[in-house]
Amino acid sequence: MNDKYEAVIGLEVHAQLLTESKAFCGCSTKFGNAPNSNVCPICLGHPGVLPVLNKKVIEYTVKMGLATNCTINQRSTFARKNYFYPDLPKGYQISQFEEPICENGHITVALSENIEKKIGITRIHMEEDAGKLIHDLGFESLVDVNRCGVPLMEIVSEPDMRCAEEAYQYLSKIKQLVQYLEICDGNMEEGSLRCDANISVRLKGAKQFGTKREIKNMNSFRNVERAIKFEIERQIEIIEDGGTIIQQTLLWDADLNEAFPMRSKEEAHDYRYFPEPDLLPVLVDEKWKSEIRRYLPELPEHRKDRLTVKYNLPKYDAELLTQSKPIADYYEKVVSVTDDYKTASNWVMTDILKVINEEKIDIKDFPVKAEDLGELINLIGSGTISGKIAKEIFPIMLTEKKKPSAIVKEKDLVQISDPDEIERIISQTLQKSSSEVQMYLEGKEKVFGFFVGQIMKLTKGKANPKLVNELLREKLEALKNNITK
Ligand code: ADP
Ligand code: ZN
Ligand code: MG
Repeated sequence: MNDKYEAVIGLEVHAQLLTESKAFCGCSTKFGNAPNSNVCPICLGHPGVLPVLNKKVIEYTVKMGLATNCTINQRSTFARKNYFYPDLPKGYQISQFEEPICENGHITVALSENIEKKIGITRIHMEEDAGKLIHDLGFESLVDVNRCGVPLMEIVSEPDMRCAEEAYQYLSKIKQLVQYLEICDGNMEEGSLRCDANISVRLKGAKQFGTKREIKNMNSFRNVERAIKFEIERQIEIIEDGGTIIQQTLLWDADLNEAFPMRSKEEAHDYRYFPEPDLLPVLVDEKWKSEIRRYLPELPEHRKDRLTVKYNLPKYDAELLTQSKPIADYYEKVVSVTDDYKTASNWVMTDILKVINEEKIDIKDFPVKAEDLGELINLIGSGTISGKIAKEIFPIMLTEKKKPSAIVKEKDLVQISDPDEIERIISQTLQKSSSEVQMYLEGKEKVFGFFVGQIMKLTKGKANPKLVNELLREKLEALKNNITK
């Protein structure tokens, strides 16, 4: 990036709320049902029907407001956002305009080990989703209105971010919070979390913001980061070439790695908001608010601190383990079975997360149960198997879904920890490798590793490595002393 300039970024995030029924009617919010089957006269906007507010929607939005240090407004109101589009049979979306549920919050994001930054949240309000158009079946476009009326929470940030990385961190934090609160599954790829990025650039030190452009349609975290980087560069280029930025909405094309202006008719800026006449204002009194606060689950920051203290984990481990709630849950299940907290953390951070990332599976569907991983760690702790053998057992647990103790038995993997037996194996090995022994005696201590390798090969990796090292060293040193004497 040209370092004369500075970017200014504000994000608008839509989170689909995990309620059973829609925001203003009893229809199911279930994803994947037959097209146009989760509908009724209310969400289709037939004349004469009346919406009834789903209380859970307010509860969830207040939860998010509390978790992001917002003021929860005692009174908020609904408004109609009017526009025509084929996926919106009602001709308007019920939203909130002048009086949102939550305002003036912030979250803190970690930019590096020691640098944190506060990002302001302007407002959090609720609205209903529109339907979906399906264009890619090769003939006409199709409409599925199942999503009409599904509750959305919109989180609008202040223009506080200065680069794509900060926006990425902010978005990750939002995802982490909605998952911890269990109010949205946070899946960007499936569209339950959506993000519009507002971007402008200005000369460093300038007081005023530049004109912003908005990019929509980024369906992954990486695409948000890419799109923002792309747009910053382009705006700088336009300005450097003597042009001016015109306020505009762009669509991100992930295949082309580029953003294109939306057709202007899709850019309906004038929504003619007006108060929704069919819904009463929402009142969140102190009693309700404190009740919601009381039942707020443990939030990521707190859990991170608790993990550090309770399991004596490095901050780095606790941070990584708590990034996703299901991972932290998994870890805590493992350590309910084993006391070796740090080994458990190592396994989850490396072996488990590696498989999850590579195979793109949900930890909830992870083939190895937390209890079984705990058992495996205990088998190492008790000396039944070595850490090395454990790494061989783990893939078998993954594919065969068997308990580690069963695999150890079946494959005869119990570690050899009997010193007499190990000494016997050492003697055997040394006898067979007299020239390497000679090298050792002449001071080439590097061959030590060779002997260990031979012993491990002979025992199919089952010899207790610590004992092998100790006894082998003793034996070789004894030989050396005999010679020098
Ligand atoms: P609009 O009226 O176009 O919806 P808002 O003022 O409501 O714009 O802001 C929408 C989003 O854009 C917010 O997240 C806000 O922080 C961000 N934003 C506002 N002005 C700018 C700017 N000049 N540059 C970058 N982001 C901005
Ligand atoms: Zn309905
Ligand atoms: Mg706005």
